[in-house]
Amino acid sequence: MSNSKIYLSSPHMGGEERNFVDQAFETNWIAPLGPNVEGFEVDLENYLGSGSHVAALSSGTAALHLALILLGVERGDEVICQSMTFSASANPIVYQGAIPVFVDSEPKTWNICPNHLEIAIKDRIAKGKKPKAIIAVHLYGMPYNIDEVKKISEKYEIPIVEDSAEALGSTYKGKKCGTFGDISILSFNGNKIITTSGGGALVSRNLKHKEKAIFLATQARDSAPHYQHSEIGYNYRLSNISAGIGRGQMEVLDKHVGLRRKMNAFYHNIFRNKEGVKIFSEPNSDYYSNHWLSCILVDKSICGFSSEEIRLALATNNVESRPLWKPMHLQPVFKNAAYYGSTISAKLFEIGLCLPSGSNLKDEEKVKINDVLMHFIDI
Ligand SMILES: *Cc1c(COP(=O)(O)O)cnc(C)c1O
Repeated sequence: MSNSKIYLSSPHMGGEERNFVDQAFETNWIAPLGPNVEGFEVDLENYLGSGSHVAALSSGTAALHLALILLGVERGDEVICQSMTFSASANPIVYQGAIPVFVDSEPKTWNICPNHLEIAIKDRIAKGKKPKAIIAVHLYGMPYNIDEVKKISEKYEIPIVEDSAEALGSTYKGKKCGTFGDISILSFNGNKIITTSGGGALVSRNLKHKEKAIFLATQARDSAPHYQHSEIGYNYRLSNISAGIGRGQMEVLDKHVGLRRKMNAFYHNIFRNKEGVKIFSEPNSDYYSNHWLSCILVDKSICGFSSEEIRLALATNNVESRPLWKPMHLQPVFKNAAYYGSTISAKLFEIGLCLPSGSNLKDEEKVKINDVLMHFIDI
């Protein structure tokens, strides 16, 4: 048995990536433009469907930043954001000089709670400022409560930024995640379901959003033979090399979703009779998660051990696992931000754990994980 480290989620190449990258070398398109960039965008547009237009960017974080700019978020504005998420969902609010307002999760999807979302909107309006946008996240690939969140967005006429960084390949009522926001974003970081080594995308049904995103991502050059600028620009375009990796990865995306879901079934099987351990699962058949990461909730008062004890046992065996995202309203950097909700996300953080979920885990690695976890089943 190999003793090399088992990661939560590591890059998994399909084989064709090299060919696209080689083509870039052969044609000398070693730049943040070229045929792979446009090819990757077309691949994503075809995959997502629903009239999606895609701008390939240097990261998911850059895509979130541009999404807020396109929605007119400016200094002093308020933006609502799901509290339980990766910090990259919230940081771009601050890049814009705007103010984050955090909202708790609901227990069934772990994502933004529609009830507390509406309470937050009403209260911010009563206090004199209508929020400019709602950032909702599909954590670990699980779609947020799309219908309810959309209803609230329409009722108060506040656009949604759909953070689908973890949910490429997930669907809600048969429609792909990444198509539900007024603007949506994807990430192709090294740990995501597909990777370009680093990269992201902005998605919108509005072609103007795509065009403006590309304009801003390439230093906001006006059309003139010289360098002329009427707006502040950014260097956020995806490189043609990275996009080549992305084109290869698109060929294996569906296969990788299947393999991640198999990992989820693997954990269901291990914990199937263990009271006090719950695997994060779809609440009903409207939801279809890519199970980017498989996660468990561990109730020590029932099963006699904690998620931290499992984490340490795995670490001893050189297997990576990690607590769930620590909610933003509990982060030192956001300690002064407004927060609406109760203790749902705090409790999830306290008792939750992400388990190795890669689409490239070998049988012998699964045996090793199984052996460590079976020790807890017998407690
Ligand atoms: C990874 C991630 C991002 C940021 O994407 P990058 O490509 O790493 O900048 C944003 N939101 C969520 C929820 C993520 O998991």
